[in-house]
Amino acid sequence: MPNALILGASRGLGLGLARELIARGWKVTGTVRREEDRAGLEATGAGSSIADITDPASIAALEVSGLDLLFVNAGISEPDDFETIDDDGIGHLFMTNAVAPVRVALSLLDRVAPGGMIAFMSSRMGSVSLTQQDNKAMYRASKAALNSLTRAKMASFGERPVLSFHPGWVETDMGGQGADLDVATSVKGIVDVLEEHRRTPGSAFVDYSGATLGW
Ligand code: NDP
Repeated sequence: MPNALILGASRGLGLGLARELIARGWKVTGTVRREEDRAGLEATGAGSSIADITDPASIAALEVSGLDLLFVNAGISEPDDFETIDDDGIGHLFMTNAVAPVRVALSLLDRVAPGGMIAFMSSRMGSVSLTQQDNKAMYRASKAALNSLTRAKMASFGERPVLSFHPGWVETDMGGQGADLDVATSVKGIVDVLEEHRRTPGSAFVDYSGATLGW
């Protein structure tokens, strides 16, 4: 039974990923930040642990090993306004969306099986080459920084496949009402792509349908 850890699985896409992987026969552990969020995650059949990706001690304490998939899903989209965001807000946004995901992935590498996959939840908004507008400029920059750090650290990930995902525009607390996709459609596509790439070393920036995006 393949074995996955999803960081940030209390709601939205992370919770949906847990549900989809369980349905396909994976063993899943997900993380939440609050005790009261464990029950919802465990209702999917996943195990739950408490961790915050910006708290290295909580990540080190996770009781997981031999992972076939490490999926760093956690992310935030606020505060974002370029004109008004203060230094603390900038630090929090870039720490949560860019630095912590790569740092925790590297810190958990010895828990990932030699051929296991690493996945990051990026965004099409993090594509430098596709960015032509200034809405959510700080969020875009934080996801661009995530992509850049991921690529910069490729040698450390060894032969493992490393996928950076755009999940589509998805109806979650972050994506809002009226987004293009529901969670079930997005995560089904993402898991299809993950299973397709399981034996392909190297990095790729792909959306939930498997289409390659420009960095
Ligand atoms: P939600 O806001 O619904 O969920 C965000 C998740 O991240 C929650 O589980 C939240 O936990 C967790 N999280 C946030 N900060 C931390 C942290 N420091 N440590 C651990 N967990 C944390 O958003 P989505 O499900 O929509 O987003 C998931 C990912 O997908 C994000 O990285 C987002 O940037 C990305 N994305 C989403 C898109 C969309 O349209 N929805 C489009 C493109 C990318 P908690 O409940 O404790 O706050």
